[in-house]
Formats: sequence, structure tokens, C-alpha cells
Amino acid sequence: MTSLGGTPTIIWMLNENEQKQLQEALVQEEQRILAAARNTFDLSREGAGDQGRDSIDQSNSEELVSTHLRLRDRERKLLIKVRDAIARLNDGTIDECEECGEPIAFKRLLVRPVTNYCIACKEEAEENERQLTGAEDNSSPE
Ligand SMILES: [Zn+2]
Repeated sequence: MTSLGGTPTIIWMLNENEQKQLQEALVQEEQRILAAARNTFDLSREGAGDQGRDSIDQSNSEELVSTHLRLRDRERKLLIKVRDAIARLNDGTIDECEECGEPIAFKRLLVRPVTNYCIACKEEAEENERQLTGAEDNSSPE
């Protein structure tokens, strides 16, 4: 675990305390999802949290796939988002809207640390989604 406060090379838009709060929220969420998956699957082994390498180790990847299949779809999507958010937190881009590049308010991030969009873009996306899918599935984690 590298400490967030260490390197001054990245220009943070969030202050250290805010970053920590977000990181804690994200890590907790990740742990919660993984724990739920493990409980279902009864894995005694630690599920390697390594997203990058999925094809080399056959048995390991099968295990991961099984674990993922056990996750409800919603949780699986959320896990991807959580990990993505952690990566963006480390990159210092977590509060940058993917759509318009405007900063995302910290308050919004705290409520939804996995969000990629500022509130304006999110509302627009939701509107489009509603039109595309014809409503119903509102179970999207974001
Ligand atoms: Zn935006």
C-alpha cells in the first residue's frame, strides 16, 4: 500500500483528506462485493485482485470466472466501476467528468465514488438511457 500523501508529482484537485475518504469508501465497497462473492462461492483462497492478467493461468482464471458468474450482474458491474474509480483516484482523475472534463463535486463523489460524470452529464446520460432501454431496469449501480 503506497501512501497517498507521499508524492507531490501529481496535482490533486481534491485535498488529501477528501482523497482518503474516497479511497476508504471505494476499498470498503470493493471488499464488500468480494466478500459477498466469496461467501457464495465458498472460496478458501484469496481471489487475486489482479484485473490485468486473465488468460495465462487457466485454473486461476476459471476460478475467477466462476466467482464472477456468482456475482449478481449488478454487483459485477459495480465491482468494475469500483476498481476503475480506485485507478482514477490513483491517477488523480477521479473528480474529472469523463464527458465534459469539468470537475465533479466532492459531495457527489462521496455519495457515488464510482461515478464518471458530473451531475449535469449524468442526468443527460440517464435521460438517454431511459429512452434507449425503455425504462424498467433501474438497477444500474450508478
Ligand atoms: Zn460533465
